Amino acid sequence: MAKFIWPVPQSHSQHFGADFKAGGQWYYKDILTSQTGVKYLGHNGDDLAAPLGTPVKASADGTVTYEGNGASHNWMGEPAGICVLIDHGDVYTGYAHLERTTVNRGQKVKQGDVIGYSGRTGAATGPHLHFEFIAKQPDFNNGYVGRLNPAKFMEQKGDDDMISIGGLNRIYRLRLGRAPDASARKTYLGKMTEDAVDTSVMKSKEYKDLVAAAKKGKVDITRFAPEDIRNVTPELVPEKVAKPGSAEYVEVKETLYRRKK
Ligand SMILES: [Zn+2]
Repeated sequence: MAKFIWPVPQSHSQHFGADFKAGGQWYYKDILTSQTGVKYLGHNGDDLAAPLGTPVKASADGTVTYEGNGASHNWMGEPAGICVLIDHGDVYTGYAHLERTTVNRGQKVKQGDVIGYSGRTGAATGPHLHFEFIAKQPDFNNGYVGRLNPAKFMEQKGDDDMISIGGLNRIYRLRLGRAPDASARKTYLGKMTEDAVDTSVMKSKEYKDLVAAAKKGKVDITRFAPEDIRNVTPELVPEKVAKPGSAEYVEVKETLYRRKK
């Protein structure tokens, strides 16, 4: 496994797995769900605060498999805006909402090479870099549209990766409908990422029993987030890039650039 670095200075504005709420609306989730038809469990990458035009670096050595408008790539999609996808051999990294890219498809990059500049293209309410890991054979029904938790790949974690009592409460209320017990507080508080706790809770017998009971109508499902009661069927979707000039191809248009003059 390659070693990865943060593509911009680490300053999380939104973690992997987080609910994405903007303007009182669960809008990112809705966009992805409507575009892909796949239920969406939470934010599928890490958002890193970055002023417009911040150099974005390749997280590890690899080969650029896509750069351009996400709408021309079946994994990235229009919400990604202008984006770059790098194949590292065992996993892909994706960089979204860029202002522009500085690499070409097929180009080999070294860790730390500048691959583009951050922006706010696509489904971005403000300037930031959306950074994500995509499995070599993504399971688009994993609740994160085939993405994996960046925390599992990143060596250096910041203080903001440490779980707070608020985060712990949120996960337990959402997944199990109860407050975390003393053992959960002892295990997780201040130690692990929210997603690590979430994964652990969702793999627990208690959670599986609740979902099974809900599916049989024996538990009021309104106590769950509706996306939890989903059909988890592994669905492998091969990477597909629209050829320039084809009907599916979408150019990088000037209208995608939302930089103020
Ligand atoms: Zn994001």
